Amino acid sequence: MRIAVIGAGAVGLTVADMLAQSDAVAEVHLFDRQTEAAGGATSYAGASDVPHGWTERHRRLIETSMEWHRAVGADLADEDRYRHRTGTFWRSDDERSDARILGFAYDTPVLTTDARTGARGLLGDGYVIAPGRLARILLGRLRASGKFTARFGTAVEGPAGLADGTVLDASGGRDDFDAVVVAAGPWVTELLADLPGLSGLRTKQVYGYRFTGDPRDPLTGTVVDLEHGAFLFPQPTVPDSYAMSIKCDVYDVPVAEGAPSAEADEAAWTVARTHLGPEARLTARRIFVDTYTDGSIPLVADLSGGRRLVCVSGTHGSGIRLAPGLAREACDLLGVA
Ligand SMILES: Cc1cc2nc3c(=O)[nH]c(=O)nc-3n(C[C@H](O)[C@H](O)[C@H](O)COP(=O)(O)OP(=O)(O)OC[C@H]3O[C@@H](n4cnc5c(N)ncnc54)[C@H](O)[C@@H]3O)c2cc1C
Repeated sequence: MRIAVIGAGAVGLTVADMLAQSDAVAEVHLFDRQTEAAGGATSYAGASDVPHGWTERHRRLIETSMEWHRAVGADLADEDRYRHRTGTFWRSDDERSDARILGFAYDTPVLTTDARTGARGLLGDGYVIAPGRLARILLGRLRASGKFTARFGTAVEGPAGLADGTVLDASGGRDDFDAVVVAAGPWVTELLADLPGLSGLRTKQVYGYRFTGDPRDPLTGTVVDLEHGAFLFPQPTVPDSYAMSIKCDVYDVPVAEGAPSAEADEAAWTVARTHLGPEARLTARRIFVDTYTDGSIPLVADLSGGRRLVCVSGTHGSGIRLAPGLAREACDLLGVA
């Protein structure tokens, strides 16, 4: 099989790698309009999560992903710099939080209370991925496979070209494939606007912040502040620096750049001052658009001549962490073991 993968973010790179490892696949062509791989992921904080999930499928995705990230050497938890027990502490008065966390935890985590905040949470072995390093590992594996063609700096035109397995690019190039995998992140709606079934896919705004701070007791893991929709955690690679994402999501928006809303800023400052002390300083803030699938499997369309198109996208804004699980599902749908 000759397969095109559109989008070289965490998800596209992972799918491309899995395809290239299969005997059923002869060629993998990875398209991205940017000149470098990794999509949005290079500018994100990276993935750091304890193993928990909200649904059986989510849990399966996480299990597949952890195993795969460890196998390719992308999980940094064994490196000294990253070695730590990581906690995720849920600030919530909702007693069901405990049950939800324990119910989906599959490892041997400890349910505990954060001494600083009094929040309940889960302490488990860290699972840390640096997106830039992950991209380098995957590109190395792809190049070594002998089946890989990087078509970076090539914008694909959709959706007409994709309908019959032909990939048209903006500079007039045209190529036929046996299958097409679309992993275009939040741009998926532009590419596949008229594809039936696309309704399962949504975009959402997420706000990203960086703070420095001097908390009396350093954070021991991720603080999840449900009231403000905030996730706050130390950046492992930058001393005294903290990353925050605010998930008071705005859905179904086009990709946009710019500054977060005043409401998001206010929430961010409240959370920062609570956890990082009154001297907390804002160093960066950005608005992102991510994709979101609500419990749906990757979307499939049957193209002419028995060809297939699979669209695979992040789930619950955890596209880096869940990429291998999602990629596995995409490969299964293409019948690639
Ligand atoms: C603030 C913030 C914090 C986050 N924290 C985490 C976290 O801790 N853990 C985690 O797992 N996830 C996290 N995420 C989510 C994660 O970063 C994303 O889900 C993930 O990067 C999405 O990867 P992707 O490959 O699906 O898409 P992207 O990385 O967006 O890649 C899509 C690629 O497709 C390319 N493309 C689009 N259209 C075309 C076209 N027409 N032709 C050619 N190429 C095209 C783009 O150039 C891009 O490179 C966070 C997100 C945000 C915003």
